Amino acid sequence: MPQFNKITDEVLREISDICEVTTDTGVTEAYGRDETSDLFSLPEAVVRPTKAEQISQLLKLASQRLFPVTPRGLGTGVSGGAIPVEGGLVISLEKMNRLKDIDKENMMAVVEPGLITGELQGKVEELGLFYPPDPASLDSCSLGGNVAEGAGGPRAFKYGTTKDYVTGLELALASGELISLGGKIIKDVSGYNLIGTIIGSEGTLGIITSITLRLIPLPPHKVDLLVPFPSLEKAGETVSLLVEKGIVPATIEFMEREALLASEQKIKREVPFREKAAQLLIEIDGYKKEELEGLYETVGEICLDQGAEDVLVADNRPDQERMWEARREIPEGLALLSPVIDKEDVVVPRNQIATFLRAKGEIAKKYGVKIVCFGHAGDGNIHTNVLKEEMADEQWKKVRKEIDYELIRTVLSLGGTITGEHGIGVVKREYLKKFTNPTTLSLMRGIKQAFDPQGIMNPGKVL
Ligand SMILES: Cc1cc2nc3c(=O)[nH]c(=O)nc-3n(C[C@H](O)[C@H](O)[C@H](O)COP(=O)(O)OP(=O)(O)OC[C@H]3O[C@@H](n4cnc5c(N)ncnc54)[C@H](O)[C@@H]3O)c2cc1C
Repeated sequence: MPQFNKITDEVLREISDICEVTTDTGVTEAYGRDETSDLFSLPEAVVRPTKAEQISQLLKLASQRLFPVTPRGLGTGVSGGAIPVEGGLVISLEKMNRLKDIDKENMMAVVEPGLITGELQGKVEELGLFYPPDPASLDSCSLGGNVAEGAGGPRAFKYGTTKDYVTGLELALASGELISLGGKIIKDVSGYNLIGTIIGSEGTLGIITSITLRLIPLPPHKVDLLVPFPSLEKAGETVSLLVEKGIVPATIEFMEREALLASEQKIKREVPFREKAAQLLIEIDGYKKEELEGLYETVGEICLDQGAEDVLVADNRPDQERMWEARREIPEGLALLSPVIDKEDVVVPRNQIATFLRAKGEIAKKYGVKIVCFGHAGDGNIHTNVLKEEMADEQWKKVRKEIDYELIRTVLSLGGTITGEHGIGVVKREYLKKFTNPTTLSLMRGIKQAFDPQGIMNPGKVL
């Protein structure tokens, strides 16, 4: 880690010549945390620029004065990416939130990074267009944060993740130089894929100041199916079977009983089939209503053949919203049960979901903790939540690490990976280092060195 300088009064004056800056702890404290349990680090100063040029000048100053910079979207990250672990300056993108352009002809949108994901979706849907990536936090996270994390969501199964929609980026480099990559173009193989490198780089390679996103026509029809299963394994096996039969729903979400019971605490109502071990929430969408009907009947039959105990169909907005509310509020519900949660975001090949769920049950039993799972089963991406509940802090520190290692070893032995969408941030750095091939790690370090030779961009994250 480089030796950084503190932000002195002189440097503060230089920053304030570029844009308004605050060091008032009443304000800066909120920028010392995100949605990751148990992590806090106070920044020395916070700025909320409104223009790319200001970001460029701030980074130029940071590289001259050698202070660390942490970019921040809207602070909903769950791996600690926006936490200024080395102090320094937080550059919040919250005020750069304009929807600059919706280009119907090219089916593209150009946005500033601080725009809330759900706001873009709402605006393009009014025009019959669709921006599919749908992190469960879509009403509170930013598109810049989505690009920086490579965010996914339930619809990734059919439509892919953020990475599949970014066609252009403008970026402020650590040196302060502004560069433009790609544009309103679908194809581009002119040299190495730098856009792909920035996606998921968690603010360690530069600050995204503008994003061009591909849109698609909005499928006007959708039907949701809620399907209860007698065991986690049966639900897991059904996911692979649906895929094997060539069925492509928009989402296949998995929720185990404890996850839904936690959600009930937040939504303050009982969910259907609350006594069943696991449920799948399957959304089927399309452009023609008749095709949809045939498809959802087939899906229902396959589920029933697999031992599903019922199939609840929602074909209107209010019923669909109730089903999805219960899914979306699981994280908040779990936080009510246990304010400290060790959240993993593992991915396994789809046909290994059932094996992983069995193994996590054994790990939970061995350590006497609750490990509650839900997630994007269609992508093999399971959110694994180890609840601290009333465990003493000392014991938690020790047990948490051992559990993490057991979960990660299980995932890797099944051909999986340690994070599918939440990123490495601070919380998974140790695991990335331990479980990644040294040559791969050194290639990653080479990329970091090329973009940020002084190491001022979001130090303490990823590598
Ligand atoms: C209840 C809940 C549900 C969630 N569900 C999902 C889900 O379904 N799928 C999913 O993928 N994630 C999910 N998340 C995680 C989180 O919402 C995403 O990671 C989101 O992309 C973060 O966006 P943000 O604007 O809050 O970014 P922040 O948390 O502010 O920042 C995240 C990272 O991006 C960097 N960054 C932010 N903006 C920029 C920029 N302009 N330029 C460069 N770097 C930048 C930061 O430095 C940091 O490393 C969920 C979180 C919560 C709390």
